Amino acid sequence: MSVIERHHNSFKLHRNAANVLKPSPSISHLLSLRQPQVPGGDGSGSTSGTCEEHESSWIIKPLTDERAYKHIKLANQLEAIVVSDPSCHSAAAALCVAAGQLDDPGEVQGLAHFLEHMLFLGTHKFPEESNFDEICGKSAGYSNAWTSLDHTMYHFIVSHDRLEQVLERFAAFFSCPLFSESGTEREMNAVDSEHNKNLKDDDRRENQLLRSTCSSDHSMSRFGGGNLETLLEDPKKAGINVREKLLQFHERFYSANAMRLAVIGKEPVDKLEELVTSFFSDVPNRQNVPLRDWISSVPYDASWKRSFYISPISGSHAACKLFLLSPDQVTERRRLAMFFPIPPIQPFYKTKPAQLISHLIGHEGPGSLLAVLKELGYASELSAGPVRRRGGEEEGAGAGAGKRGTGGGNLRS
Ligand SMILES: [Zn+2]
Repeated sequence: MSVIERHHNSFKLHRNAANVLKPSPSISHLLSLRQPQVPGGDGSGSTSGTCEEHESSWIIKPLTDERAYKHIKLANQLEAIVVSDPSCHSAAAALCVAAGQLDDPGEVQGLAHFLEHMLFLGTHKFPEESNFDEICGKSAGYSNAWTSLDHTMYHFIVSHDRLEQVLERFAAFFSCPLFSESGTEREMNAVDSEHNKNLKDDDRRENQLLRSTCSSDHSMSRFGGGNLETLLEDPKKAGINVREKLLQFHERFYSANAMRLAVIGKEPVDKLEELVTSFFSDVPNRQNVPLRDWISSVPYDASWKRSFYISPISGSHAACKLFLLSPDQVTERRRLAMFFPIPPIQPFYKTKPAQLISHLIGHEGPGSLLAVLKELGYASELSAGPVRRRGGEEEGAGAGAGKRGTGGGNLRS
């Protein structure tokens, strides 16, 4: 059961110890702030009311929710949600920018990911390169970031009493990044090392295989991680100044109106709002960044099934593809994966049709697909579900055993 409360544009959410430590609220939740929060619209119960005005101030929450929430929109159009939980031991923040690998210029592939790395290398306000990571570490926390196809996420978690100090430094990433010349080439090497590490990762290899076989005129077909070849050597040969490209990318895409922020701390919501307003109001609103909807062009077409070495499933989806990963891969595993490109499902986030299908295929009870395969000795685990491709990993919502998480840890990805 849930209720909607509205108290001067603030609301409460439930207390959940696990959530206190969760550094990044789900992207879909952040994005859903843009949607009218129609009472009862998600079928989870409601009170009566209208949300035609100030629609973003409504939220549907369980009765047991005890956290206080507040949604705010700064003058520069940056939207944030602040969460107060007096019982939390850790504070955290996450900021999502609607720009990612699909926005890379074709001549500098991996630029969005490279920019993600560069933001951690000092700001005009706090120019020391190691400043941010050091402070997070000394505050019993860590920071991380990842670059996905269509967004880039930055987050940190620290001891609750260090939120203000760290949040100010975090905000400077987006208001006054340094992008020092000296750091540029050095960080290219860091990205290259990351790429070399990823070469041993079958999931990433599979991901690049999928991307490389997309329509060649679609940006999905590019290499999003970047390495020294794409970030340094090829551009140099072509007479391209990568740092200039970096600044142009930032100028074009890192705009306050294309960012969403979430902050959780012990302080009251009004204090959290004060911090966010104070630190993030300087983030420039370039206004030339239309918020990305979803990938409207289709990167896969019927040619996909003919362009590859594994035969498609007959009579199924035109672009269905079957991958057989042989045991001589990097890891000793046998995995069969089938991918069916489907239209964007974000508009259906309230009804989740893909998750329903995933549940049916991924079910593991008696009579399930996995049960039959196990009985025949053909499979030991099975997962099914819609995936969004992020940097090189799958992100999201599967059913059944063996689904992969969304990463974490201290390595920037
Ligand atoms: Zn990285």
